[in-house]
Amino acid sequence: MPDLYIDGSWTAGSEGVTAPVINPADGSVIQEVDQASRQDVERAVAAAKAAFSGGGWWPGTATGERAALLRRTADLLVRDKEDIARIETLDTGKTLVESRIDVDDVVAVFRYYADLADKDAGRIVDTGHQHVVSRVVYEPVGVCALITPWNYPLLQLSWKIAPALAAGDTAIIKPSEVTPLTTVKLVGLLEEAGIPRGVVNLVLGDGPTVGAPLTEHPDVEMVSFTGSVRTGQAIIRASAETVKKVAVELGGKNANIVFADTDFETVVDYALLAVFLHSGQVCSAGARLLVEDPLHDALVEELGRRAERIRLGNGLEPGSESGPLVSEQQLAKIEEFVASALEEGARLVAGGHRPDEPELRKGFFYRPTVLDDCRPDMRVVREETFGPILTVERFSTDDEAIALANGTEYGLAGAVWTKDIGRAHRVAGALRHGTIWINDFHPYVPGAEWGGFKRSGNGRELGPTGLAEYREAKHIWLNTAPEPSRWFKG
Ligand code: NAD
Repeated sequence: MPDLYIDGSWTAGSEGVTAPVINPADGSVIQEVDQASRQDVERAVAAAKAAFSGGGWWPGTATGERAALLRRTADLLVRDKEDIARIETLDTGKTLVESRIDVDDVVAVFRYYADLADKDAGRIVDTGHQHVVSRVVYEPVGVCALITPWNYPLLQLSWKIAPALAAGDTAIIKPSEVTPLTTVKLVGLLEEAGIPRGVVNLVLGDGPTVGAPLTEHPDVEMVSFTGSVRTGQAIIRASAETVKKVAVELGGKNANIVFADTDFETVVDYALLAVFLHSGQVCSAGARLLVEDPLHDALVEELGRRAERIRLGNGLEPGSESGPLVSEQQLAKIEEFVASALEEGARLVAGGHRPDEPELRKGFFYRPTVLDDCRPDMRVVREETFGPILTVERFSTDDEAIALANGTEYGLAGAVWTKDIGRAHRVAGALRHGTIWINDFHPYVPGAEWGGFKRSGNGRELGPTGLAEYREAKHIWLNTAPEPSRWFKG
């Protein structure tokens, strides 16, 4: 079956181009997928526009019906969970356990927005005039381009498509060219759930050919993007010409602050999980460990010991604790980061190389790496590596910890570990990050907003704000007893 979905039909690209999708665990080709041309993008936008404005019937559909469609999609995701998780693992390299959690999360997101769809339809505003009825109503924005990255292909898409559909928008989806497979699958499930023709369209291909035309198109009203800062900046610039609504979820360089009074065993465990989950390819990865002086030596030693024991392997195999990096390019980037850190004076505690096992050399694996004696001016500390690299810095006061954690251009997430709950709240209050975990790392729920301060982004996903992004507020003023105003006397 062809892979593009335009105006309710599965179709190949108009220029007949295909591209291979690579399995990062062994470098093999999983399958060839159809690539969209500029002409296909045009057709997809036209279909989304027609579905939005053709009689206004999709945005005009009762919210209950849109919610029912989201619930049916959630049920289909549950039905196909194993199949989808397997495809996500093949495509991204993450372990099957992680992919299954992703599918569960996606189901929860669809159900959350199904429940929210008919809430908060608008409000009555008190104008102080008895004969006036003033209403604020929330309407869909229109045609939305949803552009996603490769680390959480299905999950990131669900954070966008579920609220967009709940709001009554129509969409063109553009997944990462590196990991398109579960997106194709999800669009198939939306079709099975009964999505009307043109409401959801899918175009595959790279950023310049397929993503950029969407961000420039005059009929696209909103771009919701998750990915790197550099691409986010390009998208904001491109969208400026047509004054689109733009929501961008970008990178992170997230501090994990550990005070000496915390439980040792627990914090070792979570420091590893924070950074090495999905080989560090997580926007909120706790890649920057800040440790209070008295705990520093013991914690670094134990982290090094435990990091060396992490079992790398093909994500489909049950014994694997961590998979490969997503691509050869990403692997090369990580090797470069470690080399630059060592040159700048970091001390290698664990990892720092590709694994020795011959079967892993075919894939894009890299050993979990711990670097001590790091400083804020080092490139490996300043920039998002998006790989299995933990940098360690030390501090001796609360203020120093806060200054280090905030001393980055990013502001996505961070954590504080201490038994002193007053201190935990003071530090959490001072951190300029969109999410703060106290004595935990990574959990999120669909009902709580997700997003970044500073260069980590400018919108919010999830929660009620994640729905509001896909709506416009309209004020309707009804004067029930109009009389001449006599403003002009003549
Ligand atoms: P990327 O910026 O390279 O690509 C993301 C998407 O943008 C892809 O679909 C790509 O094809 C497309 N794209 C590229 N150039 C484009 C252009 N000029 N116009 C329109 N679209 C274009 O990012 P990536 O490497 O796929 O993902 C990794 C990045 O994503 C990391 O920086 C990570 O922190 C970030 N991320 C952030 C969050 C978050 O919630 N804040 C979540 C996941 C990932």
